[in-house]
Amino acid sequence: MATHKKKIAIMTSGGDSPGMNAVVRAVVRMSIHMDCEPYCVYEGYEGLVRGGDYIKPALWNDVRGYLAEGGTLIGTARCMAFFERPGRLTAAKNLVLNGIDALIICGGDGSLTGADKFRAEWPSLLDELVATNELKPEQVAPYKHLNLVGLVGSIDNDLSGTDATIGAYSALSRICEMVDYIEATATSHSRAFVIEVMGRHCGWLALMAGVATGADFLFIPEKPRQDNWREEMCEIIKKHRNWGKRKTIVIVAEGARDRYGNKISCDMIKDLLADKHGLALDTRITTLGHVQRGGTAVAYDRMLATLQGVEAVKAVLEATPETETCFIAVVENKIIRKPLMEAVRESKEVAALIDAQKFDEAMALRDTEFSDQYKSYMMTTAMGLDEDISLPEDKRMKIGFINVGAPAGGMNAAVRAGVAYCRSRGHEPVAIFNGFAGFARHHDDEPVGAVRSFDWLEVDGWASKGGSEIGTNRELPEESGMEHIANLIKKHKFDALFLIGGFEAFHAISQLRQARDKFPSLCIPLTLLPATISNNVPGTEYSLGSDTCLNELMAYCDKIKQSASATRRRVFVIETQGGRSGYVAVLAGLGVGASAVYTPEEGISLDMLANDVRHLKEVFRKDRGQSRAGRLILVNEKASKVYSAKLIADIIREEALDRFEARDSIPGHVQQGGVPSAMDRCRAVRLAIKCIQHLERFGPKAYDAPDKIKADPLSVSVIGIRGANVTFSASKDVEEKETDWRNRRPTAAHWLGMRDVVDILGGRPAYQRPERGLVGVLAKDVKRGLATD
Ligand code: ADP
Repeated sequence: MATHKKKIAIMTSGGDSPGMNAVVRAVVRMSIHMDCEPYCVYEGYEGLVRGGDYIKPALWNDVRGYLAEGGTLIGTARCMAFFERPGRLTAAKNLVLNGIDALIICGGDGSLTGADKFRAEWPSLLDELVATNELKPEQVAPYKHLNLVGLVGSIDNDLSGTDATIGAYSALSRICEMVDYIEATATSHSRAFVIEVMGRHCGWLALMAGVATGADFLFIPEKPRQDNWREEMCEIIKKHRNWGKRKTIVIVAEGARDRYGNKISCDMIKDLLADKHGLALDTRITTLGHVQRGGTAVAYDRMLATLQGVEAVKAVLEATPETETCFIAVVENKIIRKPLMEAVRESKEVAALIDAQKFDEAMALRDTEFSDQYKSYMMTTAMGLDEDISLPEDKRMKIGFINVGAPAGGMNAAVRAGVAYCRSRGHEPVAIFNGFAGFARHHDDEPVGAVRSFDWLEVDGWASKGGSEIGTNRELPEESGMEHIANLIKKHKFDALFLIGGFEAFHAISQLRQARDKFPSLCIPLTLLPATISNNVPGTEYSLGSDTCLNELMAYCDKIKQSASATRRRVFVIETQGGRSGYVAVLAGLGVGASAVYTPEEGISLDMLANDVRHLKEVFRKDRGQSRAGRLILVNEKASKVYSAKLIADIIREEALDRFEARDSIPGHVQQGGVPSAMDRCRAVRLAIKCIQHLERFGPKAYDAPDKIKADPLSVSVIGIRGANVTFSASKDVEEKETDWRNRRPTAAHWLGMRDVVDILGGRPAYQRPERGLVGVLAKDVKRGLATD
């Protein structure tokens, strides 16, 4: 191998998708950090084939500001030449001539298919280049193996083997935003809307949009309805209208077909809905088209793109000639490497199976989340199930729904999904209003009590609503009076409780569990769906509402960063929420490219501040105005009792000696978000249904056999996403082994590694870690990149 620094090239290809720029930034800066030389290939495969100026070294500062930009700034193109061997031959020659050791390609299934072909042909391409005297044997010698890694950038989420492609959630967010707007006008006029979304072979966007918005009906390529789809759709919509719904939304994927492969068009649907002899609805068609691609990436895509970009660089550096070519996938919450060839083959297979009308097999090749969500949708929205899933009378339960703690995005979507699922099964879902405080203060003689059955029509509109419609309260059962609560549970004959909330809710189920010996009425199954913007509930790596919060915070930071463009030289110190968990601060830092993030886990020391101030001085000294945007420091509200955002900004200003400015800024409750994010809405539905299914396993009247219930650790549980799995954990175990009660957070922070990524990609120089905090975990002294951003 050559003795020069390893050259790692990054290229974006195929349809552009939000997050591609974050990939480029991560690859460029991580490469520099790893002492390699990054290159950008402009205009996708076209640039690879053309060579020359299309393949250029990239500098640390070239990718400044990339995180907040939509599309791909290094360009992409459809390249016909690359489909043919001569095109690929030239591309190989250009790679060798530029001395590129490794190629990272971010694109959709087409681009990765091309990459896979390129990889397979590589040895023969080199042989041909030597045989035809285009290159000398010694020129090709160091490049015998094409070191290639794929990243999936696509808004369709159409690659097998990964739960999410870079850009898919951004496109979904845009769709949900549009559908929310359309719903307002649909309701006003009592209209029907047929909305077409992208997806030729993959119905992910249509399905998730249906789940997130609670659409009345949807059509996706993987799961055509039965032959009677016309009657079925009209019947379901008629049912919804009879309930009193004033709006009708039908979502159609571009590639929707019937069971025989015939296209189902928006016009066909419109004609059915508008038919004078049928529903006679005033119906409009909206084709969302390219707006779905547009705009800046959502928080999840920025995180995914950044972490996957970093992983891709690690993968190319670790690759040996024997290593199978991989792409970077995400399964639930875990970033992993998977064989590229297999994913490409499976994705092609899905398309072929759909063409061959083998829909069940096609569906089986989609990831589990896809089929889970399809079932969720059918059970909660269409309610025109292929089979009757209602339970016999003696299995039906009365389930109390309660929100505890502060409101978080997705709480209402979770309640809505839980209620809808209960209805499909024949259970009786009951709302307990305003948390335990509301429950305890309930009086029978009040006209509107604190415990009421749900009004389905009202609940049906909650898919996109922020806040907590049934009301939430921080009071714990012991504060409300445990005996009183136990008596109320007995009086209302609840068979199970479904709690949605944050750390208080976790604390509440702990108290209820511990009071079981004294109050047998508490011997019913209890399960918690974590929902808090702070994402500090033990037992899960993700709480509902945290994604909404990150998006709000990121949008706020993007604007603040831009506001500095008039003065150029400005640092903003932004205080984030999150309680004693630094999750929100770190993830927001990852999404906006913070210069430093201060967390309660680590604390703030004088050394750190001095180091960061020195770094900022250096950065502004070298700054030649390449970018006008300001620089950000994020500080969690509880990172230090002394160093507040204001004090930190004052210190920086004092030290800056007028060479640059520093301001503090506190977004406060804005972080709870208005409309919940698409991801929170989708996950709310899926997790809520799993929670009710979990409760249902215990059956009704568990309190009749209290010892049996007490003996089952999972009778008090918390649902969580842990690494690549969705699991229920016994709350007792989580309380005892994974909870830092004093700091109200999990003992281990799964996101700690991301803090290092923020520092590396932000160019923050290494510093002496504060003595307090998680010294052992954090003290690894990472070598930092160039200190200029
Ligand atoms: P996407 O990557 O978004 O699916 P395309 O399908 O348009 O987008 O693919 C992008 C580019 O990848 C194509 O223009 C072509 O250069 C290359 N490519 C796609 N499929 C192949 C293939 N089977 N063989 C070689 N190159 C391909």
